[in-house]
Amino acid sequence: MAAGRHIMRAVRVFEFGGPEVLKLQGDAPFPILKENQVLIKVHACGINPVDTYIRSGTYTRKPSLPYTPGLDVSGVVTGVGENVTSFKKGDRVFTHNTVSGGYADYAVASVDSVFPLSDKLDFKQGAAIGIPYFTAYHALFQKGSAKAGETVLIHGASGGVGIAACQIARAYGLKVVGTAGTEEGMDLIKKNGAHLVFNHRDMDYMTQLKNLADHHNIDVIVEMLANVNLANDLKLLGNKGRVMIVGCRGLIEINPRETMAKETSIRGISLFSASKEEICECAAVVLAGIEVGWLKPVVGREYPLEKVAEAHKDIIHNQGALGKMVLLV
Ligand code: NAP
Repeated sequence: MAAGRHIMRAVRVFEFGGPEVLKLQGDAPFPILKENQVLIKVHACGINPVDTYIRSGTYTRKPSLPYTPGLDVSGVVTGVGENVTSFKKGDRVFTHNTVSGGYADYAVASVDSVFPLSDKLDFKQGAAIGIPYFTAYHALFQKGSAKAGETVLIHGASGGVGIAACQIARAYGLKVVGTAGTEEGMDLIKKNGAHLVFNHRDMDYMTQLKNLADHHNIDVIVEMLANVNLANDLKLLGNKGRVMIVGCRGLIEINPRETMAKETSIRGISLFSASKEEICECAAVVLAGIEVGWLKPVVGREYPLEKVAEAHKDIIHNQGALGKMVLLV
């Protein structure tokens, strides 16, 4: 434990609002380590779109102010609570759910949300595992009941969750179709498991996808932008198909009749609602994937802590994701 340290660098939010409410402080309070927690010296922190929704104050989860954002952290253990036996100082770890916030020099996390970080991966990759891969597995298998041999469309495959979904689906024997908004994104998802790729900014990409769907049953759609795509997804799904809503940023009109003849279903998912058992299963899959070698997180844009406000603007407004966005601490 960093004995004698009482302050550290951390991004603090004192009021909900735009990216400008993110304040980097040099004298933020050091997190207090409880008996079932692990203290981590943060090396990198994944930036998730949900961090921006929480910061804006419009999300269902509203932390009490002030707070430090950031859930996905990788780093080195510098202290453990008195009940913790599974980790020790010096261990490389990652977590998907810090308690004190990951945009900081140090963070605490409950021991059941902390996992060993293999030497095969660097810290930036470690910060790209938790929420993206757990969400992808939760959507595909725990809620989407995907099976080997089925076809999945990952609608928005070039970002954190999308690349994770491509790698997992490919490793589990699905036929993988992915979309990205740029040529580079299309190349990237092809290298990360997609058999077929489409550009969701091509004017006629829906026609191209519909041609595919006419000859090939699309069993599952993992949807990253449901407010834009849900009505089209219902047209693409095959018999008994399932669309899994992972991302949605607004309203959309759909025709429920589209679900009837093919008996398709629409299901929303939230990693925050996953049970402890489901998270354990996600972690087991991820750790095995790293060990065997098919799970390789792709790190996209990188930002220092000082540029956190820019990172929050970019994750919502920039087009052309190329993997997971991370903060370097
Ligand atoms: P990200 O890294 O920012 O990636 C965003 C993805 O959306 C990129 O692949 C982007 O592609 C794609 N996209 C942009 N326009 C699109 C369109 N018209 N149609 C389809 N895809 C489009 O974000 P992420 O971390 O992967 O998260 C993706 C979404 O899932 C976000 O809305 C996030 O809030 C949500 N999410 C939900 C959960 C949950 O538990 N439900 C967990 C994690 C994330 P290009 O940039 O190449 O255009």
